[in-house]
Amino acid sequence: MMSTLRTYLGRSVRIGLYFYAICFPVILAAQSTRSSANEFLRPLDEMLEEVEHRFDVRIGCKRFAADTMLCPYADFRIRPYSLAETLDNLLRPLDLKWSAKGGKITVQPYEYYRRTPAEGEKLLAWLSGRYADRATWERRRDEVLAGVREALALEPFEAALVANPDVRMGAVVCHDGYTTQNYALETLPGLYVCGTIYASRVRGPRALVIAPSGHWKGGRYRSDHQLFMATFARMGAVAVDLDIFGWGDSERQIGSAAHTSDYSMQLQALWSKCLTDWIVRTRRDIDTTRMAATGGSGGATHAMLLAVLDGRFAALAPVVHLVSHFDGGCPCESGRPVTLAAGGSCTPEILAAAMAPRPVLTVSDGGDWTASYPELEYPYLRRIWALYGAEEAVENAHFPDEGHDYGYSKRQAVYDFFARRLGLDASQVDESKVDLLPASALSSFADGLPAGAIASREELERMLETTDIK
Ligand SMILES: [Zn+2]
Repeated sequence: MMSTLRTYLGRSVRIGLYFYAICFPVILAAQSTRSSANEFLRPLDEMLEEVEHRFDVRIGCKRFAADTMLCPYADFRIRPYSLAETLDNLLRPLDLKWSAKGGKITVQPYEYYRRTPAEGEKLLAWLSGRYADRATWERRRDEVLAGVREALALEPFEAALVANPDVRMGAVVCHDGYTTQNYALETLPGLYVCGTIYASRVRGPRALVIAPSGHWKGGRYRSDHQLFMATFARMGAVAVDLDIFGWGDSERQIGSAAHTSDYSMQLQALWSKCLTDWIVRTRRDIDTTRMAATGGSGGATHAMLLAVLDGRFAALAPVVHLVSHFDGGCPCESGRPVTLAAGGSCTPEILAAAMAPRPVLTVSDGGDWTASYPELEYPYLRRIWALYGAEEAVENAHFPDEGHDYGYSKRQAVYDFFARRLGLDASQVDESKVDLLPASALSSFADGLPAGAIASREELERMLETTDIK
């Protein structure tokens, strides 16, 4: 980026001269109405336009309207010799940030959940110096986990859980080597978590895989999601998914907008825990020494939160998400101050380290923010696992030419990992045997909501108030 900026800088001086030769009289007239009395105010859109002319660049705005913002002492913030300093001076006081890519500059609101890979590198270097041995790491890990629990503040939600929840089970449907059965489990009064149980048809104690769905369109109904869930089952597991809050069947209860509420992250964490407890409590076929969690993108955040906070999980496979410089941009992942836990160094990557020395496979690719993973975050994690003499238990499958998905090759990596770490049958990995079902066949509320179920966001928020949660 610096070389691009130097190019801009050189060009800017020439363009600036032309600009002033043509526009100087006009600017002078406009400037006559501005003074210290009105803080030399100018609308931001006007300023950005001027920056475009001065430095010969294109500027686009994302997620805000520049004509609604005013810039005090606007012209005094311009540095004619530097585009970068000019943009910093104009934007930082307005809580905006800028980035340059392919000759275009994008301006957008500050993202509290996103940092740069360079910042991630500095953080990991700083952290690495703090854990000299297993004892100092474990002290820090315990502080972090306690801080995460405090940030999530789930106690009022847990206290309001229904003692004898209503459970709706769909029919068991047989497929080649596995069965599917939809479930709806009441959590808070009238509020259900829904999903599908994909179970192996092989008898005997079975590994359990919990898989929160991510933010990809279609959620747990997507074909790639069905393919890995059914394949885990064909390999010998009981694999159970759940809607993220406000998606799928949950959307029928509370609408999709509730997903970005400030309580979304809490309810999602609560649901993962309720579901796991319920499955372990009610199914005799689960081998509780072989429990694992996986998810892609935002689903990885929820899988990781479940696994590290629950403590019973033997393995974790977060796919295309966890890095040291991105906490997840959706309030369901970062709506609570989890990453500020224990003094503010609790990035998702560090939280994933709380799994050590248990097996973790992180899947990354070259087409999203996980491009930094093999060189930056993975060595950091290996150092933590090395404190236990277990470096081989933290694995990375990186696909440099791929993008942000839970696609075929990523699924193969997770099948292989679960086969080795959960004792599943790798010979049953054959996605052609999976029946891809329409969303209606996987819906727990295909015939409508149960009597007494919450049927709107307003009802949900009234319930949260009456149960003293909010
Ligand atoms: Zn979300």
